[in-house]
Amino acid sequence: MTRFLSEKYKDLVPYDTSGEHETGAYIKLNTNESPFPPSPKALKREAEAAGALNFYPDPDAHELTAKVAELWGVKPEEVLLTCGSDEALLFIFMAFCDRGATFPGITYSFYEVLAGLNHVPFETIPLAPDLSLPAERCLGLGKTLFIANPNSPTGLALPRAEVERIIQGNADNIVVIDEAYVDFGAETCVPLIHKYDNLLVVQTFSKSRSLAGARLGLCLGQAELIRDLKTLKNSIAPYNLSGATLAAGLGALEDEEYTRANCRTIMENRAFTAEGLRALGFDVTNSMGNFLLARHLRLSGGKLAKRLKELGLLVRCYSTPEALVPYVRITIGTREQMEALLDALKKIEEDERQ
Ligand code: PMP
Repeated sequence: MTRFLSEKYKDLVPYDTSGEHETGAYIKLNTNESPFPPSPKALKREAEAAGALNFYPDPDAHELTAKVAELWGVKPEEVLLTCGSDEALLFIFMAFCDRGATFPGITYSFYEVLAGLNHVPFETIPLAPDLSLPAERCLGLGKTLFIANPNSPTGLALPRAEVERIIQGNADNIVVIDEAYVDFGAETCVPLIHKYDNLLVVQTFSKSRSLAGARLGLCLGQAELIRDLKTLKNSIAPYNLSGATLAAGLGALEDEEYTRANCRTIMENRAFTAEGLRALGFDVTNSMGNFLLARHLRLSGGKLAKRLKELGLLVRCYSTPEALVPYVRITIGTREQMEALLDALKKIEEDERQ
């Protein structure tokens, strides 16, 4: 840190991306991306958009916003498109957290980073021993509440009725439901935005729509909330989305069949992998995401990740919080990749026995 860095940021702890983008011929199962390429329609639209790079993109993203509104069953004024869902979360932390924030003790670690960046005091909600989030711990909290549903890295999801109870139980505070992984079998809360003026739903094109590299997210809520967030957006990054990203997003939405087919495959591969892991003696949570959280009875997550890396596979492990240390988080890939993972784990198991 130089002596020139603002006092405001001297204690900042950034998001740890170390080890996430290793080069080399690894099977990459560590950052919950899609193993499938973007839809051909997304790639075609994106290539066509390149010819207009001399112009600024549409700051209001009219065309893509209208398409999202149509497909999600909301009005265009209830949609904000962002540079990844991370940017939506940033705007929410800036706009709606004067009374502080709260989120589960084990969840997407970027919430804590954003709280630090924005000097938002936060409290965490302890999970149950089985890593589930008891809804009764989420009532009357008096702060802006962030819930990833399904949660990461546990993969566990609350049914919509439980989320609705939580929204009702925090009527005077914003409840943010982060649905980054909702397309892999959980229930969405989007229909609830018309019923509750304190609900924001955040989603992403990074997972089910294979566009992590394009950086496209969305936030849905009643028009007044979205207007507040747009004020932030237009004060920070009026042109937050490139023309290429907007075009790729539109192309992806013109190929919902492709997205649905990929999600089905991921869910099948998830079931196949969970079964294989359990047969090898792993403890596996009932994940509704495009990943599994698994614990070996003897090897720590860090040891297992190291051994898998030696065998050419990257998975995510944790040094904090304590409860996650035994686990690895494994992104669901193609069937071949999952077979390679199970083969590698068998080999590790055999080596251990010798
Ligand atoms: N929310 C959750 C729960 C996530 O795990 C992630 C990243 N994997 C994001 C939001 C951010 O995703 P993106 O910025 O790519 O949309």
